[in-house]
Amino acid sequence: MKIIMLGAPGAGKGTQAKMIADKYGIPHISTGDIFRTNIKEGTKLGKEAKEYMDQGRLVPDELTVKILLDRVEKEDCKNGYVLDGFPRTIPQAEVLTDALGKVGDKIDYAINVEVPDKNIISRMSGRRACLGCGSTYHLEYNPTKKEGICDSCGSETVLRDDDKAETVKKRLLVYHEQTHPLIEYYKKQSVLYEVDGTMDMQDVFQAIANILGA
Ligand code: ADP
Ligand code: ADP
Ligand code: ZN
Repeated sequence: MKIIMLGAPGAGKGTQAKMIADKYGIPHISTGDIFRTNIKEGTKLGKEAKEYMDQGRLVPDELTVKILLDRVEKEDCKNGYVLDGFPRTIPQAEVLTDALGKVGDKIDYAINVEVPDKNIISRMSGRRACLGCGSTYHLEYNPTKKEGICDSCGSETVLRDDDKAETVKKRLLVYHEQTHPLIEYYKKQSVLYEVDGTMDMQDVFQAIANILGA
């Protein structure tokens, strides 16, 4: 089962992707998490990616595509995966379609988590992220048990640099220009499914589980 999560920044892609990964026993692959791990470790890729991320811009396709293709070729991906934050541009989607096509494979589900822009800013300002394991929380909607400490791994949770209101506005513009066209792209491939992301997290997950089947 190969799944793509689509939706604006803050729509809940990561939250749902983690739940899907747990339920179906497939890896959750987030390009944002891969970049943040590289930034934390001070790698060359991390330094390059950070310049774009801090400005709310997309990391260039040349850098992004290769790390994603390397990742999905790993052994743990042979039964499927859930991609969160990739593809984000039509050229990225085309590279993925081609790479899968070469081995007679394809994406099974592209799930669009729909949340209007007006809800996004407050979601992002309350988001707290764990840079240890990639879990995300929300001060109000999904708080950690112990303030500022990740429930899953015990690391500190932080407000991401790019979650400040000004950068979020820029990211939303970038989303509408470059990522939103993917909805049409996957509709044409007859694998697009829509869920209302403004519902409670558990209700959103139930809607997704209904699409994916038991
Ligand atoms: P969010 O979950 O809030 O949408 P992500 O963690 O997915 O944020 O991404 C954070 C940032 O990392 C993006 O704003 C972008 O700069 C970069 N990034 C992540 N995935 C991609 C991608 N597929 N292509 C280009 N840039 C990406
Ligand atoms: P994305 O990966 O699409 O950027 P996240 O999964 O990180 O989004 O969610 C963004 C923020 O909104 C996080 O703080 C998360 O805890 C919160 N959140 C996610 N889903 C919901 C929901 N259905 N209702 C309210 N808050 C949510
Ligand atoms: Zn953690």
